[in-house]
Amino acid sequence: MAESTPIRVVVAGAKGRMGREVIRMIAQTSDLALVGAIDVSRLGEDAGVVAGVAPLGVPLEDDPQYVFSTRKPDVLVDFTNPQAVIRNVDIAIANGVSPVIGTTGLTNDEIQRFDHACRQQGIGGFACPNFSLGAVLLMRFAQQAARYLPDVEIIEMHHDQKRDAPSGTALRLAELIAEARQPHLQGHPDAFEKLDGARGATYEGMHIHSVRLPGYVAHHEVLFGGHGQVLSLRHDSLSREDFMPGVRLAIQKVRSWIGFVYGLENIVD
Ligand code: NAP
Repeated sequence: MAESTPIRVVVAGAKGRMGREVIRMIAQTSDLALVGAIDVSRLGEDAGVVAGVAPLGVPLEDDPQYVFSTRKPDVLVDFTNPQAVIRNVDIAIANGVSPVIGTTGLTNDEIQRFDHACRQQGIGGFACPNFSLGAVLLMRFAQQAARYLPDVEIIEMHHDQKRDAPSGTALRLAELIAEARQPHLQGHPDAFEKLDGARGATYEGMHIHSVRLPGYVAHHEVLFGGHGQVLSLRHDSLSREDFMPGVRLAIQKVRSWIGFVYGLENIVD
């Protein structure tokens, strides 16, 4: 029986921390083939070498339109930054390439615009603030717990080079918890801050705290307070390998629907 053709993948942010991990994962996955690598520097260097594996014959390039039109990929995986991702994904969709977006910081308006553009092209797209299966379970458990213990605070901890705050995962947790509980103000009605920001950000009455320190990768803790009890749910991504099964699944599935899907919880069985 003939083997199926590998899915042709371009990685944007190829020399970044996540981009290199994705390239290593693709190099080890028989049904995926790296056909392009986009970044803004180290141009011309082999993407495999940059990622710390054997040469893959794919140079780093900085022109997405050129890469898409010459390499004819099926899927773009984007781990760049909140500004770059918009242009990369717009160009990908215009070329009929399905985006799989790991970059965090997308707004609801941007996701809706991508959804509309994907539907017009008749292709699928996907974005996810956290590709870790454990983090998806954290979201499910947190949503359940919030029905019974609706007073919630979220703490997220990341490495000190992360640009956006709060993390996309913390925001998604807050959205899912808000769906499960009655909206209400938490804490003392006359509470005040002696230092600005001491109580963190608020989302529908919930407080979200962002820690940035070298040493952390990606960590989320949800605290539920009740009378005489506190429940803590915590997930720790200890290395970027944690995200790869989710990225691989999204690449393999993204061409099976039309329009945009947001969140790994919507594609895991
Ligand atoms: P990073 O190490 O800074 O990598 C980003 C890479 O993108 C850098 O090499 C950067 O180059 C490059 N870049 C900048 N502009 C570009 C452009 N226009 N086209 C192509 N590449 C461009 O960041 P990271 O830690 O890999 O994280 C990347 C994103 O993924 C962040 O938004 C982060 O929050 C997110 N993330 C998501 C998950 C998830 O599970 N969804 C997990 C981890 C991280 P320069 O450094 O030279 O600017």
